[in-house]
Formats: sequence, structure tokens, C-alpha cells
Amino acid sequence: MENTITVEAIENGTVIDHIPAGQGLAILRHFKLDESGNRITVGFNLKGRRGHKDIIKIQNVRFTPAEAAQIALFAPSATVNVIENFQVAQKIKPTLPEKVEGIFNCPNDNCASHGEPVVGTFSVKSTQSEARLKCFFCEKSYPISWVVEKNK
Ligand SMILES: [Zn+2]
Repeated sequence: MENTITVEAIENGTVIDHIPAGQGLAILRHFKLDESGNRITVGFNLKGRRGHKDIIKIQNVRFTPAEAAQIALFAPSATVNVIENFQVAQKIKPTLPEKVEGIFNCPNDNCASHGEPVVGTFSVKSTQSEARLKCFFCEKSYPISWVVEKNK
């Protein structure tokens, strides 16, 4: 068994692996994992077989399929492992959603969506690393981590 990286094992929960280095923090922020009260182990900038990566382990948390899809926005190459009894019970390869609705507001201050009774709606464009979101209303596009930053 190949075992290049050892990060403390968890009994039950979720391990998000193969996150491009630097995107782990954006995922923590987006899901407010640091405020959730659950035990979290993170490894940033770990040396993996395919370059540097981040890894996040969250005790006692499971992601819904919709939440797993949101992980793909930050890390298209990520793997979401469901852990039961220290074993990988399920491996999910999240797929990028085509549309993101009602999660983020548009970061453009001059966007027509502000002050209207509408939810932020974006189409998703994938890139090599993180996805870009294109606003349905003002048609401007932004990297996902910047949208998260502006929605804090
Ligand atoms: Zn907009």
C-alpha cells in the first residue's frame, strides 16, 4: 500500500483529499468548518504524488451530494472520502455544477442583482485550478475564492 502522507486518522467523518495547495483554506471558510465545533485536521502544502496539495479531515461530518459538488468549485480534482470506523466507506469524485444559485451574492458592487429580490445566480466555468463564476445579471466572472472572500 502506498502511503506517502500520514495525517492523523479519524474514526468517522470526511476526508477531502487532493485539494490544490492553497485552496484548503477557501474550502474551510466556505463551509465555515473552522466555526463548526467539530474536530478538524488540516494539512496544507503537503507533498503528494502529483505536486503539492491540501487535505482536510473533519470528524463526524458528512457532506450531502450538493455540498460535495460545491467542493469541486474550489478543487475540481478533489476526492471526498467518507470514513467509517477508520476505513474509507465511500469515495466521491465531486462533479462541477453547471450553475450556482442562492449561495453567493455577486461581488460586483454595481451589479443589478443588488437591491433586487433575486438570489445570486452564476454559471460555472472550469479552469485548470479553481472554477470561475459568471454572474447571470452583470455577466462579470470571478474566481471562486474571490467570491467567497467577498461573501464573508
Ligand atoms: Zn453580478
